[in-house]
Amino acid sequence: SAGGASGGGVRFELEKETELRFEVEAGEKVQLELLSGLAEVFGSELTRNKKYTFGSGSKIAVFTWHSCSVSLTGKTEVAYVSRDTPMLLYLNTHAALEQMRQQAERDNERGPRVMVVGPTDVGKSTVCRLLLNYAVRLGRRPTLVELDVGQSGVSVPGTVSALCIERPADVEEGFSVQAPLVYHFGSTSPGTNIKLYNKLTSCLAEVFSQRCEVNRKASVGGCVINTCGWVKGSGYQALVHCASAFEVDVVLVLDQERLYNELKRDLPHFVKVVLLPKSGGVVERNKDCRREARDEKIREYFYGFRGVSFYPHAFDVRFSDVRIYKIGAPSIPDSCLPLGMSQDDTQLKLVPVTPGRDLTHHVLSVSCAEDEGAEAGASGPAAQRRGILESPVCGFIVVTAVDTQAQVMTVLSPAPRPLPRHTLLIMDIRFIDLK
Ligand code: ADP
Repeated sequence: SAGGASGGGVRFELEKETELRFEVEAGEKVQLELLSGLAEVFGSELTRNKKYTFGSGSKIAVFTWHSCSVSLTGKTEVAYVSRDTPMLLYLNTHAALEQMRQQAERDNERGPRVMVVGPTDVGKSTVCRLLLNYAVRLGRRPTLVELDVGQSGVSVPGTVSALCIERPADVEEGFSVQAPLVYHFGSTSPGTNIKLYNKLTSCLAEVFSQRCEVNRKASVGGCVINTCGWVKGSGYQALVHCASAFEVDVVLVLDQERLYNELKRDLPHFVKVVLLPKSGGVVERNKDCRREARDEKIREYFYGFRGVSFYPHAFDVRFSDVRIYKIGAPSIPDSCLPLGMSQDDTQLKLVPVTPGRDLTHHVLSVSCAEDEGAEAGASGPAAQRRGILESPVCGFIVVTAVDTQAQVMTVLSPAPRPLPRHTLLIMDIRFIDLK
């Protein structure tokens, strides 16, 4: 219930197992303060009398297991208390996963590998964050695997990644992303190149398994995999592929019985498939909202996030100093493929890009692939060239201008010149730098 003002804010008294949901108005900021009791935001505990600021468009739930009073200052689009939340079910899910970790510890086995699936806007990312927070608060070291190329919580859009979680997410900023392992996908929908998407999923699974072999805590902690909201056709096949690549033990299906039944039918019987309701608090985001969120993520990469400002560099790069590739040749009918070539080959092919004006505003991934390797690959056999697909990314740049006369392009880069590597992979994604 909303009550009197406190320091200009609106005060809410929350009973146990209820949550305060609010949305920040566009262009506004809202401050949240815990006045008494205990409360958490998506599994991260609030500190009493600390002011948390949420920016334009944020959609937040403050949940309490006990009871609490909080205050909100600033313009909210909506702010209401709900008693009807699936949090108890989510907590039980966490408890079951924790039991699996304890058992793994006892039996010298590996901990649970969990895949979270469902259509868009059912709270998949939020459930991942919750489960990871609860695990890390118990001293576990789970890994977040981010396969949502549209709305990545870890890196810029158009990438897949993995991140070891070592502390709970910051209430305002989410998980600290210090050394994520990131791979270039290049677009915001897995459907643009499903072969590449599945290949990168396999790469991440392999790297994660290797880490588990040498790091017992990582192995026991297991992983939580966030997936895309595309759950039909090839999107569904990609989920099945992911389950097998990671050898997942548990699949949490949010809000879609049909998907639940399909996965139960198609995954091996030892995989526990669990249907969970979505929270009524999850807000649907339209196309514009998603585009803005993506843009914001790229802006943060270059300019930092609220408290922390970064100062990106602008410099010229000579065409002759870099090799730019696009992954995947346009697909052609099977009947037209050269003898001995399959559709896989075209989707995983590195196609050299001749720099031109149309590069402007594109985001480019700087591949970690060794430069010599790239050179050999450019003229060498396809197998060698694939090294680039499977190499992680060491950073991103944006092309801000192209001078075809002088054969140079101007780029925005988080680090000063020179580029750390010279193999660049082009994304479909554009970013217009307004600073
Ligand atoms: P998905 O990953 O399925 O697309 P998200 O987890 O990103 O969905 O949730 C969509 C939006 O809803 C996010 O902005 C998130 O902060 C918000 N949200 C999630 N759960 C709640 C809740 N209980 N109350 C209010 N907002 C919520």
